[in-house]
Amino acid sequence: AVNSMMRRMRETQSEDMRQYYQKFLSTRPCSACEGQRIRPEALGVKVGGKSIAEATATSVAESYAFFESLKLKGNEARIAEELLKEIRSRLRFLLNVGLAYLTLERPAPSLSGGEAQRIRLASQIGSDLVGKLEIAVPPRRRKPDGRAIRVVEADANNLKRTSVDFPLGLLICVTGVSGAGKSTLVNQTLYPAAARALHGSDRSVGSHVAIEGLSEIDKVIDIDQSPIGRTPRSNPATYTKVFDLIRHFFAMLPEARMHGYTPGRFSFNVKGGRCEACEGDGVKRVEMHFLPDVYVPCEVCQGRRFNEATLQVLYNNLSIAYVLDLTVEEALKLFKNHPQIRRGLDTLADVGLGYIALGQPSPTLSGGEAQRVKLSRELSKRSTGRTLYILDEPTTGLHFDDIKKLLMVLDRLVAGGNTVVVIEHNLDVIKTADYIIDLGPEGGDAGGEIVATGTPEQVAAKRGSYTGSFLAELLPRPVKRRAAR
Ligand code: ADP
Ligand code: ZN
Repeated sequence: AVNSMMRRMRETQSEDMRQYYQKFLSTRPCSACEGQRIRPEALGVKVGGKSIAEATATSVAESYAFFESLKLKGNEARIAEELLKEIRSRLRFLLNVGLAYLTLERPAPSLSGGEAQRIRLASQIGSDLVGKLEIAVPPRRRKPDGRAIRVVEADANNLKRTSVDFPLGLLICVTGVSGAGKSTLVNQTLYPAAARALHGSDRSVGSHVAIEGLSEIDKVIDIDQSPIGRTPRSNPATYTKVFDLIRHFFAMLPEARMHGYTPGRFSFNVKGGRCEACEGDGVKRVEMHFLPDVYVPCEVCQGRRFNEATLQVLYNNLSIAYVLDLTVEEALKLFKNHPQIRRGLDTLADVGLGYIALGQPSPTLSGGEAQRVKLSRELSKRSTGRTLYILDEPTTGLHFDDIKKLLMVLDRLVAGGNTVVVIEHNLDVIKTADYIIDLGPEGGDAGGEIVATGTPEQVAAKRGSYTGSFLAELLPRPVKRRAAR
């Protein structure tokens, strides 16, 4: 009878009936788990001496103290690192909004309106609201010099026989609402057409009448946030080729020559010098459920990737494995008298990656870091000043500080005479552009036309451009207009 009443209560659509049934019910702890909600096997798992039930039965303040003082060792520490960071920062936010006294396991419906509001606040603040710096509007913009790549009557997807100039030697932002046709114009038309003309690519190109001016450039490069390598074998040093130079350097050391070691001895990709237990990976992969995979060190080489004999060769008391652990900044000091190696390292430092370890496995780089490693490789090539770089929403997922660094690198590429075309919705980037191509006015069929082109100031003055109206809020007002009021 109790069960059928429970069922009727759950199924009834009538609020009155629900309240009627409620009168016969009371809440008491479950007799199996005694209110701990978790099965005994799971409760057996303890961290810092506490089960999950014990760790959440305490107040926010106590939990924070517990997780702050929690000391883990070795692989446990490595696996838990990101999780602990998250747990601590979330608890810190709960403390900051004055909820130190709440217990973590407190059922949401039992919270007062004010408490619930503060919890929502805490969960929304995240790290976004921290210490926000400015990206300045550049005091002057580079001006078109007459050279341009001209797309004539592009009409793939929603484009409407659209013709537009990409002035060369500038930082160009292609803007517009989602579905306006940005990607159709840049990724499906301009990029593949240039790649076919310059590199013999066989990509398909969106329909158009002509693309003029491609003879002004000699290369087109698409720089995205995809990983620079999917295995731990790839890292910033191998990708930028700096590691080739370092391996050659190690093979020239007296100890290496005595044993007849070649540069290949110092590679973790081929047999000979590497640790065979992990085949030079140095790590094993641990799958996490809702965080990115975690890598833990190989037990034989302790993550050093090389065998004992190879590790005997030292420069300034450092083995090749140790050198891979150095940050770019540290390696710059170690190789300060080796111009070739230094030049390679400099380009990594220039894109704001001085803090990164030379041997940091590629899969552990963030999208923004991977993109900057790619840019670094571009910067290290001898520039002809005639390259067209294309970036699609490069600021997606980047922290504010990284956006600033990205902009500095893009500026350097343009300063070298190159052209950078960025599809972007981030106004901090758009406002720093030399030139904007704004597509729209709407998405889909109601888009695909050029709404405005010109400097951010010119686009801001254009009626009917969404980008323009947002920019107008952001840019300093023209002096003349203010005086006239
Ligand atoms: P944006 O990059 O500005 O967000 P897109 O160029 O991706 O816009 O899309 C422009 C329009 O073309 C949209 O209406 C979109 O649905 C359509 N579109 C995009 N790619 C294709 C495709 N491969 N086939 C057909 N329609 C497409
Ligand atoms: Zn190993």
